[in-house]
Amino acid sequence: MEIGFIGLGNMGGPMSRRLVEAGHQLTVFDTRPEAVERLTKIGARAAKSPADVANSVETVMTSLPSLDIGLKVATGEDGIIRGNRVRRYVDLSTTGSRAAIKTADILKERGIVQIDCPVSGGVAGAEKGTLAVMVSGPKDEVDPLRPALEVFGKVFYCGDKPGMAQSMKLANNFLSATGMAASSEAIAMGVKAGLDPNLMCDVINAGSGMNTATTQKFPRSVLPGTFDYGFGMALMVKDVRLFLAEAADYGIPIEVAQAVGKLWEKALAEHGDNSDFTELAKTVEKGAGIQMRSLKKA
Ligand code: NAD
Repeated sequence: MEIGFIGLGNMGGPMSRRLVEAGHQLTVFDTRPEAVERLTKIGARAAKSPADVANSVETVMTSLPSLDIGLKVATGEDGIIRGNRVRRYVDLSTTGSRAAIKTADILKERGIVQIDCPVSGGVAGAEKGTLAVMVSGPKDEVDPLRPALEVFGKVFYCGDKPGMAQSMKLANNFLSATGMAASSEAIAMGVKAGLDPNLMCDVINAGSGMNTATTQKFPRSVLPGTFDYGFGMALMVKDVRLFLAEAADYGIPIEVAQAVGKLWEKALAEHGDNSDFTELAKTVEKGAGIQMRSLKKA
């Protein structure tokens, strides 16, 4: 099918590549020319703006880094809303349900249907097509998209109202953020007690404490000290803030989330927007006065 794709970054890059490789015809846009070039080299067509993408195709996908950028790309001056061919706007970004509902309402006035489609599984999942793909929107609009969405991974239909898939995604990412924060504190305690952090991950992964921080994030990026997992610190903090706001809207107790959020804010202040989210471990290391590095020789 003909698909527009805007935002060719850590996630959008491999996801759009997989669509081209699966035989879809892509029209792409990104503010970074080098990201666009990677796609045109394999057969995608480059557009000049989001509006230009939306003039070329009926279905436009986006994978963008912030709520402001997402809103501007969808509804701004040169945005998707200005396109004369677009009928479906599929947002793969994590925005939370408030922003999703706001954008859906604006686009609806122009007859554009919004389909929320946040994903989970990281850059590795985007590369391999093993993401969890959470989708919400009118079922008759979602069903024809399935073959394209299945290129990204396993598709879960979350409901017909705008924002439902975003609420699902925030619940997931809060757990991911909590796993990373709690695992950092647990492993720091063990290292201080003299335990090898590799051994700790092996034991935890064979036991009941296992989570994606101990199975993937620590072994891949913290223990070797590379801190290159591919998910930006600012993006993780965005998701934790969105969860806190959404849970507060619904009157859900957020004692754990508030404590987790505080640690992530501290890590963001220490390491900056462009750091990798696994650098939260460094914040815990600093407080504990230890390092959680692999004792194994490379
Ligand atoms: P990223 O920063 O790597 O990529 C964003 C891309 O958008 C970049 O290529 C950037 O040049 C482009 N961009 C910025 N402003 C633009 C504009 N005005 N017009 C067009 N393009 C523009 O971010 P990412 O890690 O790929 O994340 C994208 C979304 O996916 C975010 O909502 C994030 O929360 C979500 N997400 C990320 C991961 C991950 O592991 N990285 C996992 C799941 C979900």
